[in-house]
Amino acid sequence: MILPKNNRLSPDELNEVTQIVGAFGCRIQPIVGAVRTIYAIVGDERDDLMITRLEGLSYIDRIDKIQSPFRLMDRRSDLATHRIRLGGVTLGDELFIIAGQCTIDPKNPSLLYETAAAVKEAGAHVLRGGVWKPRTNPYAFQGDTKSLDILMEAHRRTGLPVDAEVMDEPQLRLALDAGVHMLQVGARNALNYSLLRAIGRAVAERDTVVLLKRSLHMGPINEFLSAAEYIASFGNPNILLCPRGTAPTLDGYRNHPDESITPLLKEKTWAPVVVDPSHSVGRASYVPACALAAIAYGADGLCIETHVKPSEGIGDDPKQALTPEVLAETIVQAQQLWNLRRASRVGAAAS
Ligand code: PEP
Ligand code: MN
Repeated sequence: MILPKNNRLSPDELNEVTQIVGAFGCRIQPIVGAVRTIYAIVGDERDDLMITRLEGLSYIDRIDKIQSPFRLMDRRSDLATHRIRLGGVTLGDELFIIAGQCTIDPKNPSLLYETAAAVKEAGAHVLRGGVWKPRTNPYAFQGDTKSLDILMEAHRRTGLPVDAEVMDEPQLRLALDAGVHMLQVGARNALNYSLLRAIGRAVAERDTVVLLKRSLHMGPINEFLSAAEYIASFGNPNILLCPRGTAPTLDGYRNHPDESITPLLKEKTWAPVVVDPSHSVGRASYVPACALAAIAYGADGLCIETHVKPSEGIGDDPKQALTPEVLAETIVQAQQLWNLRRASRVGAAAS
């Protein structure tokens, strides 16, 4: 929909606009109002180049896109009935929990095995374990490919599906070949379109689930959904959206908590929302409250860093990880809130 700066386009302006959209297989349909005339673009108005050309015209106020730029992720798309199942849970029907270590310690595999058994006992459905890590400090531990074997061994021991972050194509290949069930796109890579494309291409033929974190630097919801669209456009729509806090930091927290975007996401997309309170608030003592807030906001699940011995954890601040005992208690409370939300179906709290 084209909104001109003046009340209507002059004949020359209308001619120019008609030629531009015509080059993209569209036509213009004026809609004459009492004061102002607006111009509908009839055809597929999603072509970004066409929109850019129109927006560059000095006499255009703005273009309102009616069709969604994320045609697969849009709540109105044919995929709205798509269901994602992992770890015995159908997302949306039951509360979904990912838990485990930030980073696997390749020198101490038994810590991951103990953590895996403990998070399973606490009620988690997927085990997380960082194999390769995006570290701010280039001299900090960057992860180790050996940890992939440890993660898969934890899967064999517990039966839990496993989740690991991949940051480039070689890691993506290794993770898929090893049989990782959930690929995590980290906050730093959520705007890395070539990686998103590579992941989309690689998982197209498989059942792999992708956990797409929200970038620290994302603003509008559409940016998040467009990132998901990159992956889905290759044919695998098993995508979970993961708000994990944004920049700038809210003083005292690790990031600015953003679980409150969940109802907005729910309005725009069918994709399940799995909130990560650990990287959001960044302190074990704040994590349960943030997790419960996420469920109250309508999240379908949670991704929570947990370690049998948080003080022996490597990777993110050991003060961030919950003990399995606190995880278990948080899951019980989250489940209660989930049940309440299900029973009430009131306003934004209903999913
Ligand atoms: C992580 O999950 O350990 C991690 C690095 O997360 P994020 O990409 O959200 O910072
Ligand atoms: Mn972490």
